[in-house]
Amino acid sequence: MHNTRSNEINMSEGTELAHTVLAIMNAKATKNGDGVYYPRTSGISRCPRDMVMHRFGEPWSNPPEDLHGQQLRFDQGHDTEDRVLAALREANIGVGCEQMTVVAETAMGLKVTGHIDGIVCIPEEYALGGKWYLLDVKSAGTNVYKKVYDEEFSKPKQEHIMQISIYAESFVNDKKFPHLKGVKVSDIEFEGYEFGGGLVAYMSIDRVTKGRGANKVELPKLHFCEFDVDPMDVEVYLDAFDEPEIHYENKTIPPIPYKNDAVVWNGARCTPRWCARFDVCQGNVDPESKELMEVMHGV
Ligand code: SF4
Repeated sequence: MHNTRSNEINMSEGTELAHTVLAIMNAKATKNGDGVYYPRTSGISRCPRDMVMHRFGEPWSNPPEDLHGQQLRFDQGHDTEDRVLAALREANIGVGCEQMTVVAETAMGLKVTGHIDGIVCIPEEYALGGKWYLLDVKSAGTNVYKKVYDEEFSKPKQEHIMQISIYAESFVNDKKFPHLKGVKVSDIEFEGYEFGGGLVAYMSIDRVTKGRGANKVELPKLHFCEFDVDPMDVEVYLDAFDEPEIHYENKTIPPIPYKNDAVVWNGARCTPRWCARFDVCQGNVDPESKELMEVMHGV
């Protein structure tokens, strides 16, 4: 009885300590919000309404809460990337162009900036061998991993296809790679390797299993999904970055998407947990940006 009570006290203090640590880390990580808006490739799957509010300079109305540990998750993503790249090298797969800055251009002439995770040259003797791929490493929770994992017909998430395809059609603009300046990423030449398209390395952050009871099987920790890049599709993807600019110029904002729209994850995204401008979007609070106030409420 005494032990139980003292355990409870320790638990409570442990929880309190965790809150303290998370609060300090979160305050540091979120103090500048999401900064000034600019088109970036990693934002390709953002909600268009959120992008437009950001374009108007609207700050977060619902900053990430301490308990979500946003910075920890972000750092976890970087760790995953480093470890997967190290594992690829260990397997004698060539890795290069890490974090290279690339820039795409929209139909309106906007520059869209991105940083690629890297390029991998896969030796002939391996599966997918004899080609080089534009690689992106994603740490995946159970749901995402189960969706992308398929031994026969695996396909990356659509938002990952869009992001990497835009990288492939972007041009190198990075002082660390002067010899590649102005070269389209998919046109980079690696002797003995032809361009194979995009490759997403999904690393499961959980223990993922498939099936039940005696049929239950463990899924591998790592899964690769390759795909072809279609330049025509990229032109369409890039329109997503012109849209906020057009709204900004016309002093308009897109409506809240339908619940079954993928951009709001079938409605799941429209919560303070997942949307940092939830209250402004939904009209629960007035925008701080005078321009946006006028656009949304006419005053
Ligand atoms: S609440 Fe939903 S519709 Fe509104 S900005 Fe956020 S994600 Fe978009």
